[in-house]
Parts: sequence; C-alpha cells; structure tokens
Amino acid sequence: MKVADKVTSVGRGEYKFSKLPQHGNIIAEYIWIGGRGLDIRSKSRTLEIPKVNSLDDLPDWNYDGSSTFQADGHDSEILLRPRVFFPDPFRLGNNVLVLCDTWKPDGSPTNTNFRTDCLKVMTSVADEEPWFGFEQEYVLYRNDCYPHRPLGFPDGGYPAPQGPYYCSVGGGCAFGRQIMEAHYRCCLYSGIKISGTNSEVFPGQWEFQIGPLTGIDLGDHVWMARYLLLRVAEHFGTSVNWECKPVIGEWNGSGCHANFSTKSTRAEGGMDVIHRYIEKLREKHSYCIDGYGKDNAKRLSGTCETSNINTFSFGVADRGASIRIPRATASSGRGYLEDRRPASNSDPYVVSALLADVAILDGAG
Ligand code: ADP
Ligand code: MN
Ligand code: MN
Ligand code: MN
Ligand code: MN
Repeated sequence: MKVADKVTSVGRGEYKFSKLPQHGNIIAEYIWIGGRGLDIRSKSRTLEIPKVNSLDDLPDWNYDGSSTFQADGHDSEILLRPRVFFPDPFRLGNNVLVLCDTWKPDGSPTNTNFRTDCLKVMTSVADEEPWFGFEQEYVLYRNDCYPHRPLGFPDGGYPAPQGPYYCSVGGGCAFGRQIMEAHYRCCLYSGIKISGTNSEVFPGQWEFQIGPLTGIDLGDHVWMARYLLLRVAEHFGTSVNWECKPVIGEWNGSGCHANFSTKSTRAEGGMDVIHRYIEKLREKHSYCIDGYGKDNAKRLSGTCETSNINTFSFGVADRGASIRIPRATASSGRGYLEDRRPASNSDPYVVSALLADVAILDGAG
C-alpha cells in the first residue's frame, strides 16, 4: 500500500501553502449535487471580502450543466443558489464551503434538486419539530490497483470472512482508521453535527452518524459530511464507495438507517404515536422503498442484518426488521424509531422528506 506515502507528500504541500496570506480575499468552494444524484461537484471562487457573515455575502453562480448530465450544450447554464455555508477545514482561515442547490434556466429545480421539495415538507411539519439522525455507511476503496478494491482486500484474493471487523481494533481488522479520524475532525471543525462513528461488519467499511437535527438541516449536514469524506479520502489516496451492495455474497451491504422522532413521539404517550407512524409506513412501504436508494433489492435480502425488500416488519431491538424500535424507547414509552430500509446511496433530502410526509402528513405533502 502506498497510502502512507501519499499522506505525507500531499499533506505537507497543502498545509504549507495554506499559511500564505490572502490579502483580504476569501475562497468560497461552491458545492452541489450533479445529475447522477450522488456525484458531488464543486468549484472555487475568490470573494473580495475578509469574511462571510451571512448568505447575502455569497452571490448566486452558475456552471456548465452539459458536463454534469443536467443540460444539453445549447442552453447549458445551471444556476447555483447558496443555501448554507461552513468553515473550510482544508483551506482554513475565513475560507468557506458553500452548499448550493441547482436550478434550470426556466426557473424550475434540476432533476437532482430534492432539497426544494424537502424544504416544503419540512416547513409544513415544522410544528411537530421532526428530529432525524442518519447512520451513513460506506466502504473505503484502494485506488492503487485495478479494479479498485475494498481497503481490507488483499491482492487477488478475499480477506477472512466477516466477524472481526465491526468496531475492531488492530492491523488486519481495522482498515482506514486515519481516514475516519481525519473526517471526524473535519466535520467537527466545520460545525457538522456528527454524533459518532464506528468501523462496520464488512472490511474497510465504516459508518458515521449525523444528528439529531431538525428538518432540512439533516439533509444539509449529511451531504456536507459526504463531501468532506470524499475530500479526505482523496487526500489519503483512496476513494469512497457509496453503493449499497459493493460485493455480492455473504458480505454486508451499506445502509443509511434513518432515526426519526417528533415532538409527539418524544412526549409522554409517544409509543402510541410511534405505532401510528409505523402503520402509515407499512401502507406506504413500496412508495418509500422507491425513494430509499438505488439497487436496494440487492442489499435488502433478509440476511446480513436486513429485512426483505418485499415485506414490511417492525420489532423492538430487531435488526432484521424494516423498522426497529430501540429498547430504550420501548421501555420508557417514548422516543424514536429507526427505519433500517434506506440505502447508503439514498438522498437524505428524499428520505427525511418521505418519513415526515408519510408519518406526519399522511403522504399528502
Ligand atoms: P445503531 O444502534 O442503530 O447503530 P447509532 O448509535 O449508530 O444507532 O445511531 C443512532 C442515531 O440516532 C444517531 O444519529 C442519533 O443522533 C440519532 N438519534 C438519537 N436520538 C434521536 C431522536 N430522539 N430522534 C431522532 N434521532 C435520534
Ligand atoms: Mn470554462
Ligand atoms: Mn449505527
Ligand atoms: Mn451500521
Ligand atoms: Mn442503525
């Protein structure tokens, strides 16, 4: 593995130059979701101001949508609208990362701008104060071989079967810890609400948890955490695989469990409300599955700690169910539910909007 070499050579360069004075300018990295739905894109611009105080300091911008599967070459300009900004952990200083959504020339949202609909739903349900906590799983891949392989896979073969890798320590079990660690620090630096992280069942697989956050903030923070992970992985000479079943067979896939509560589920008598939500989620099972990620049938097989994609089920502390009620919620009679169906490659704007819409608004939003 040449990963360690890359750490030092890339790392030294970036941090040496990051100390050079910027003479009153800041760099804003505009970030958006491309036409494939998981292809995060970004580009940089200089702003002749010492500091960004509010969104008003960040002008709208545009890009060539014909290069992101979002426009044809004749009318190619897609509009970028800044929605939220964070301190930049790579450039440091007053430089910022700017999460944008994307708009077509006719004023309608692009095919992958799900933030717009999510915001509408979150505005309608604001009185219920929905909280979301998402568990983003992913697999780190090495780039120094072809085809690219999970970080724990030896040349030309397979690692030992699953068992030792979940929450593991030690060489031969935990692969890519320095990447997880750097990503964790970047999230905290930028103000991303990361609540924890752990290594997962598949070798080279990790998870970070975002939340609990209210409404649209969940989607914004998950997307920014994904962006930061891509940047960190790039820095270490590796890449991130977001597919929900990267290796077929007796190997766990990657999910993005969605933990969800409202003012009513968190209050006394919340358990009754949780059961009402579960019945509505049962009715809309396939409607939700449609928005819960690509290739999810490969992952939701009913084995490897998943439910079957064709059946809806729930249970207390049951990791083979569609919906798990955490034991602490069951025993205190209030709290949250965990929807285990969303895949690692789902869009958190879509998943959080579906949950809020189906559970709170009866699917009317
Ligand atoms: P698991 O036991 O399924 O691995 P994790 O500890 O990985 O659970 O993740 C639990 C997630 O649930 C965290 O993101 C946390 O922020 C979130 N969470 C905790 N309490 C609530 C709540 N009341 N409403 C919504 N999300 C919550
Ligand atoms: Mn150009
Ligand atoms: Mn978890
Ligand atoms: Mn997990
Ligand atoms: Mn979980």
